[in-house]
Amino acid sequence: MQYSEIMVRYGELSTKGKNRMRFINQLKRNIKHVLSAYPDVKVTADRDRAHIYLNGTDYLAVAESLKQIFGIQAFSPSYKVEKSVPVLEKAVQDIMTDLYQDGLTFKISSKRSDHHFELDSRELNQVLGSAVFEALPQIQAQMKNPDVNLKVEIREEAAYLSYENIKGAGGLPVGTAGKGMLMLSGGIDSPVAGYLALKRGVDIEAVHFASPPYTSPGALKKAQDLTRKLTKFGGNIQFIEVPFTEIQEEIKAKAPEAYLMTLTRRFMMRITDRIREERGGLVIINGESLGQVASQTLESMQAINAVTTTPVIRPVVTMDKLEIIDIAEKIDTFNISIQPFEDCCTIFAPDRPKTNPKIKNVEQYEARLDVEGLVARAVAGIKVTEISPQMHETDEVEHLIENLL
Ligand code: ATP
Ligand code: MG
Repeated sequence: MQYSEIMVRYGELSTKGKNRMRFINQLKRNIKHVLSAYPDVKVTADRDRAHIYLNGTDYLAVAESLKQIFGIQAFSPSYKVEKSVPVLEKAVQDIMTDLYQDGLTFKISSKRSDHHFELDSRELNQVLGSAVFEALPQIQAQMKNPDVNLKVEIREEAAYLSYENIKGAGGLPVGTAGKGMLMLSGGIDSPVAGYLALKRGVDIEAVHFASPPYTSPGALKKAQDLTRKLTKFGGNIQFIEVPFTEIQEEIKAKAPEAYLMTLTRRFMMRITDRIREERGGLVIINGESLGQVASQTLESMQAINAVTTTPVIRPVVTMDKLEIIDIAEKIDTFNISIQPFEDCCTIFAPDRPKTNPKIKNVEQYEARLDVEGLVARAVAGIKVTEISPQMHETDEVEHLIENLL
């Protein structure tokens, strides 16, 4: 027998009162996006459950995708059969014979939402239980914690059988908390920060600073590949490439070495904030982690943050590097992050950035630059592309070639 549909139970959103339908509709959209590689799959969602109709699509592939989508607490694949007692008897026999091992215990839990059906749920339990005993005389029934709890649901249009309950990713549907701009480098930390923001329902757009020709097309592709990895949790993500070469050259030419990092980061923050404002984002998200490198001190964070009053969310700020790596491996970004493409900071960064930058000095150095003009030109030059889960290798190659030209 082949699974015909997957029944999806919602996560935390059940507690969200009036917003419930908004959450459910968002989750439905996200599921559709993530499963867009499977055109035959159909998704419906009502107040209590979502249903994914496979229409012949491979169950295992769809299940792997579903496990990643935030807002799903659990799901159960089910078989759809004709609403007739002999067909149901045959179905429970087939399923249990398939699953049977020595000592296996089971129970049948029937539910009848079609009240015109000839048997009520108690009678169904008895009749279908007997059918299983007929096929497997040695099997044992057990009402409390059986190995297999075979659920039978009689609905208007058909009967459904299911026995698995697979744990989902939890979290909130991406998009239900509003939008944030993720500052995405090619490193290990920022994709993890993005993943954690997505988990709590934040819809992210990825902002990446590139400084060609100092940074390579490979570094850009790396950031895009990382973004693509993040699409499996809630759907498409806008990737925003910011031209950063002019700013880095200016800073390098006019500010002392020890302050390059601080000034660079302040520009990144200003530009990200400007893009956020234009695109309706509410917060900025970055991958800063306290004390990880000399530049990530509280003093440094303060100097960088001083250019904006927008909330800056730092999901990995208190994590140890190994904790961050654990998550990076789990979400499959680690192997991309460690590819050896240098990003704009590695190239321009001094060996010894100031760990305790003074705002007074920072402002004095910035006075030598046309801050507003530089920011405005960078923002005017952004390139936005939508990254989707199923983008093909060839698209990537074409994109790479475009960037080389
Ligand atoms: P990551 O592993 O995310 O690169 P990191 O440990 O290397 O972080 P830093 O280089 O100090 O830390 O960068 C701190 C944060 O600044 C990054 O996590 C990221 O959010 C942002 N950032 C740094 N470089 C870029 C870039 N080229 N484009 C966009 N954001 C960047
Ligand atoms: Mg980095």
